[in-house]
Amino acid sequence: MNRNHSSRRDFLKQITSLGVMGTVGYLRSPMSMASAGTTISDLTSRVGGKVIPRSDENYEIWRQSMVWHISKPGRFPEVIVQAGTEQDVIEAVNYARNNSLKVSLRSSGHNGAGAALRDGGMLIDLSLLQEINVDPVTTTVKLQPGLKAIQLMEEVEQHDLAFPASHCPSVAMGGYLLGGGMGWNHEHWGGIACHSIRSMEIITADGKKVTANPTTNKDLYWAARGAGPGFFGVVTQYELELYQAPQTIMGSMYIHPLDNLRVVTDALEKLVQLKDERVEILLLFMHNHQAPADMPAEQAKICFVGINAFTDSEQEARNMLSPFAESELASKSVFKVENNPTTFQKLYNPENVDTGVGRYAVDNDWVSDISGALHTLADHFKSSPSTRSHLLASLVMNSALQKDASFSKIAEHYIANYLVWNDEEKDEENHAWLGKANELLKPFSKGHYVNEVAGDRYPERFQESFSKPSWERLNELRKKYDPDSVFHNYLGHS
Ligand SMILES: Cc1cc2nc3c(=O)[nH]c(=O)nc-3n(C[C@H](O)[C@H](O)[C@H](O)COP(=O)(O)OP(=O)(O)OC[C@H]3O[C@@H](n4cnc5c(N)ncnc54)[C@H](O)[C@@H]3O)c2cc1C
Repeated sequence: MNRNHSSRRDFLKQITSLGVMGTVGYLRSPMSMASAGTTISDLTSRVGGKVIPRSDENYEIWRQSMVWHISKPGRFPEVIVQAGTEQDVIEAVNYARNNSLKVSLRSSGHNGAGAALRDGGMLIDLSLLQEINVDPVTTTVKLQPGLKAIQLMEEVEQHDLAFPASHCPSVAMGGYLLGGGMGWNHEHWGGIACHSIRSMEIITADGKKVTANPTTNKDLYWAARGAGPGFFGVVTQYELELYQAPQTIMGSMYIHPLDNLRVVTDALEKLVQLKDERVEILLLFMHNHQAPADMPAEQAKICFVGINAFTDSEQEARNMLSPFAESELASKSVFKVENNPTTFQKLYNPENVDTGVGRYAVDNDWVSDISGALHTLADHFKSSPSTRSHLLASLVMNSALQKDASFSKIAEHYIANYLVWNDEEKDEENHAWLGKANELLKPFSKGHYVNEVAGDRYPERFQESFSKPSWERLNELRKKYDPDSVFHNYLGHS
């Protein structure tokens, strides 16, 4: 008997018995990986970094460490590859494509929805790619995606340069820039941070390394400047424009009981229209952790307004901050600190602020009517299930949109609810609170910031982060650059 004929017949019988769906699964299973001639051990030998298949005894520790916060999503990649070099990324993408493993990516795992963790496929962790090269002559920097905001700022500061890096020191540049990036003094430094990307190195679905900039692969350059956690390629290097570092940073802060919100919004409505673009205003609703222990939580809510001026002299900074000091924002506050000299180092290590990690969710809206939106949310904030949660509003974004960037939704003000809590049993209560906040903000919403949407629960909010033409173009480019869907799409989008 001819053995080949017999085994082919057995194979066909097996396939037929599986039915259509079973056949698809069978053909994408590890057996088909073997028939492609590659196994996990082949991958391990090609990649300098770590390869952790699901069968590894430490897999769960690795999986959990891929997301920064404590609410670890119940999604399980088949294999995690921690790239040690750009070549590792190329090897991993090629292996994944040849073995039908869909690729997800991680730079520092700060995405609120835990976008890096997907079911099945391969997660490529880029966090060790942290090279940085500053060119003080051209005032540019080349950096890899795992580099963190504070590392960038420390490096460029040595050349008297700066960049609108994330307000949080540990956020990597990878995902931050890809989704837009609202950082220190960004209104003055090129607007949304991705507008300061000059060029990128990208590994595409076919495992090729390409350059994307205003003259080469222009459409990829357009897509990567704003697409966020649904981009169809791996950015392995950014080249960024840098800016002259401020000689003086000076801050004032004012605290009011949340019940005095009207005083705050009336004062700010006038002040924000006149402010210099080098003045950054952040408003927070917070729980007052110094309130007496027996005070009901809803009475212990405060409104904090922080104002930073990034300037070249102390006098100029004082002048910029003085309209705030002369307003009712100051005279009616219950606590204030004014004209406080500071540095990026101190801004990255604020005192008395809960920067601890917890269970976590975030969602956001761009709004024009900031007073209306804040007053609508104030009562709801009092009912927040966690005293660790806060609302943050970033006031007056004049950043113009750019034609060669997919980042396409913005309004004058940004509001985000950051929920932080300790107990798993409180998950649904906190998510219900966030859902209600989103509902309350709906009448004010002009769209969302793709980097901070709760896309695991509300996948439609990814699309709502883009103008209609930009969303359509992103989908067309996905088909062009990733026709076989090597990369995962946005959470909840296939
Ligand atoms: C504490 C905290 C503070 C923050 N502060 C700010 C802030 O001040 N300003 C602001 O704008 N945002 C801020 N963010 C939001 C932040 O920009 C986003 O969460 C961003 O997605 C984090 O980037 P990451 O590299 O850690 O993403 P990850 O969670 O590592 O990745 C998320 C997704 O982005 C994509 N991705 C990441 N890296 C790459 C890459 N190199 N190539 C291709 N795709 C990639 C992948 O789809 C990936 O699944 C903050 C978030 C947190 C948790």
